[in-house]
Amino acid sequence: MRSGADSGGIDGVRLLDALADLLLGGRCVGCARPGRVLCGRCEALLPAGARPAWPSPVPPGLVTPWAAGPYDGVVRAMVVGHKERRLLALRDPLALLLARSAAAALAPVRGPVVLVPVPSRPASVRARGYDPTYALTAGAAARLAAAGRDVAVRRLLRTRPGVVDQAGLGAEARAANLAGSMHCPSAALRRLGERWPRASLVVCDDVLTTGATAREAQRALESVGLQVTAVAAVAATRRRWAPGGLAGHSESSVRRVSPSQNTH
Ligand SMILES: [Zn+2]
Repeated sequence: MRSGADSGGIDGVRLLDALADLLLGGRCVGCARPGRVLCGRCEALLPAGARPAWPSPVPPGLVTPWAAGPYDGVVRAMVVGHKERRLLALRDPLALLLARSAAAALAPVRGPVVLVPVPSRPASVRARGYDPTYALTAGAAARLAAAGRDVAVRRLLRTRPGVVDQAGLGAEARAANLAGSMHCPSAALRRLGERWPRASLVVCDDVLTTGATAREAQRALESVGLQVTAVAAVAATRRRWAPGGLAGHSESSVRRVSPSQNTH
């Protein structure tokens, strides 16, 4: 298995982003310092590990959700900048955080791994011209591959029509909005079964809030006979990150890799 199919071109895109930032007068999303979209000082403050981040209440049956850090400060500004302002230069550092989260979740796992991004609503992808969750998941897969993991990223999930934007909804409303909202197309399932019949699946998202989205993704995969090992996110909202929500701490083995170390 290789990670290249869905993750090529990262370095070229990153270079273009850097040039655009330079020419267009970018500012750091964390501290507004003119220059790079993420300055060295803010980058140095990013979380270096990952840990379980259980929502409260926990959606029944949810596999362990991991996150690299709390959803506030620089990390929050990065997620919003990447998703809402399409600051593509933030994809790389965000993908690194997601990779640390997935690596921590996968620490006890041997063998091939498939990262499954939470599906975005087609209308959102059309409006943005970009699928930020998929982009982060592909970037995380490239980093895990560079660290020696047998890993692929596959879009196994689709959303059904009728799902509204989750923003502003409480836990119960989110769960009701999402119940039955995702499905795994049979063609995607067949391709997965043919190529990686025994892969461990990790559901990937940018932010964990109530856990309803992750639980629905898990349900949709399990409903077609797949086993989900864990959920990995860049960040978890602060309440999920509170001491009561923790079940241990794990430093990930994924470090920053130079572009030349990326395997494609
Ligand atoms: Zn900064």
